[in-house]
Amino acid sequence: VGERDRKAQELREKLDKAAADDIRAHYNERPNKSIEERTQSPIIKLRSFNNLIKSVLIQIFSRPRQVVLDIGCGKGGDLQKWSKQRISGLIGVDIADISIEQAKERYEHLRQKSFWADFCVGDAFERTIEDIVHPDAFPVDFVSSQFTIHYSFENEQRARTMLSNVSRALKPGGTFIGTTPDSDRLLEHISKLPAGVREWGNSAYRIQFEDEPPKSNDDLKDIFGYKYNFFLDDAVTNVVEFMVPFEAFTELAKEYGLRLVLRRNFLDFFNDELASRRGRDRILFFCRILKVYKEDGTPGIEGDQREAAGIYTVFAFEKE
Ligand code: SAM
Repeated sequence: VGERDRKAQELREKLDKAAADDIRAHYNERPNKSIEERTQSPIIKLRSFNNLIKSVLIQIFSRPRQVVLDIGCGKGGDLQKWSKQRISGLIGVDIADISIEQAKERYEHLRQKSFWADFCVGDAFERTIEDIVHPDAFPVDFVSSQFTIHYSFENEQRARTMLSNVSRALKPGGTFIGTTPDSDRLLEHISKLPAGVREWGNSAYRIQFEDEPPKSNDDLKDIFGYKYNFFLDDAVTNVVEFMVPFEAFTELAKEYGLRLVLRRNFLDFFNDELASRRGRDRILFFCRILKVYKEDGTPGIEGDQREAAGIYTVFAFEKE
């Protein structure tokens, strides 16, 4: 039995590694598009809306002169946002080496380089963060992980490594923000599927479960590896993603001294901020800068791209 267990574990590890290799290959293959090409994307409104949400989240939670660790920084699409926030330093980590090269290039071409930056290649859900980034860099004030943590929910070990890295990287009182698919919204979509159907979507996105999808939060308790294929119009290929059962995630985060301070679906977050006295001007500013308007000229997103944006949630944790 010992030998079989060991073999089974080996196979599992090999499969996990294969999934991580797939994700790396997927992001490395994505072309680095020019600003002009990006503005012609069929999902430009969704991209702009997502950028608005990230910008607002960063403005609300981060402060000038902070040092930030960005896990899954990709090609450096958030560099401008950090520059505007007048942070003092940024450490970007990503599993995709080609993306990291592009992030370095983008940083070099930033108009106002008011902060230092360091970019490192590594699997942040497999290795310790001190093994990827020089240990002297820690602790930092702030961790941001945008559209990335769901890749760690393949299994418990990876999710724990992600949380442990975030927690060890942060100073007490530090903040961890991010964006990830909203498990409640995914469950809502699943509950509307006819019997036997495991996929849904529209002209902007498509989600396809290979196995029977979870039906309720009870199904999701402590469960990792709820795998689905995610297709986004404009993306080269589909990519494998994993559900982040948010309640279980919040409980797990507590074990690492991370206390939830905000969880809000993208669409609710936008509407709340727009309706609030303090948030309204900021939202309207970013709507103007990023051109986030509906056909009738009012701020916001509509139609198929709105439904795609509604798949996501923002979150923020504070390190005790
Ligand atoms: N944060 C960027 C943004 O908001 O535009 C990129 C988001 S992209 C959807 C997800 C990123 O996570 C990719 O760049 C991918 O290479 C990275 N990633 C996935 N798994 C990772 C891992 N185990 N360690 C580090 N980065 C990872």
